[in-house]
Amino acid sequence: MKTTVTLTIISLVILCCCTNNNSNEEANQLKIEEQPEPAQINKDKHWTYGGETGPEHWAELEAGSSCDGTHQSPINIVSVDAISDATLTPINVQYSNRVKIHEVTNNGHSIQYNFEKGDYIILNNQQYDLSQIHFHEPSEHTINGVRYPLEMHLVHISSDNKIAVLSIMAEEGENSKPFHFLEQYLPINVGETKPVDTYFDLNENLPEQKDYYTYSGSLTTPPCTQDVTWVVYKSPISVSLDQVKQLQELMPLNNYRNEQPINDRIVKQYSSVY
Ligand SMILES: [Zn+2]
Repeated sequence: MKTTVTLTIISLVILCCCTNNNSNEEANQLKIEEQPEPAQINKDKHWTYGGETGPEHWAELEAGSSCDGTHQSPINIVSVDAISDATLTPINVQYSNRVKIHEVTNNGHSIQYNFEKGDYIILNNQQYDLSQIHFHEPSEHTINGVRYPLEMHLVHISSDNKIAVLSIMAEEGENSKPFHFLEQYLPINVGETKPVDTYFDLNENLPEQKDYYTYSGSLTTPPCTQDVTWVVYKSPISVSLDQVKQLQELMPLNNYRNEQPINDRIVKQYSSVY
């Protein structure tokens, strides 16, 4: 009897961990209905950023994912290879100065803030609603081989489930007011979600200089869904070392995926001055 009870408890703990990790995977949070339930992809192992379940094993671990696709992210952006495209315009960002953050969660892969609907960007005449922001430390994208201390991903999704991510690099420097605001809800344990339900001016987190690189890539976490429009701002924002450390302590060490081959893709760039 005792053994049965113990086994039941162990099973529940395992099931509970699986549910926590799986239910928080990036695509699931985006509520992309076409994506298979992560529990169906793999019942036993969960992806991580190292070892036997690290990025090199995501494709085999997550059967049916696109992690072995040819248009994956992140990439190293080489500025001299980026095509200047005169048809590109500044990103039409429609964030209110009172964006409402619904909650903050630690999904075991990153710290993520989920937003209520209402703030959006317009890309190629299509509206993409802001869904969530999260962090990678150090950065996933590199620019001319330079890896920044922190990269913030602002994930947007259109009504027909297309994904666009704005990427903002952060370098160590002055204390950032918006980061101070975001970090007042930390620390947060793995698997924990806290309500925020407070207004926030996300515009303050955008770099002043709005030049950017853009290319077609993927989610950088399983299921590595492709056809994601990436917009990587050329200029970083400043955050203090303490602010980087606060996030670093709560996220897996080096929660970044390595550079993926660019293959036949072209990176375009928007510059305000040619
Ligand atoms: Zn990300």
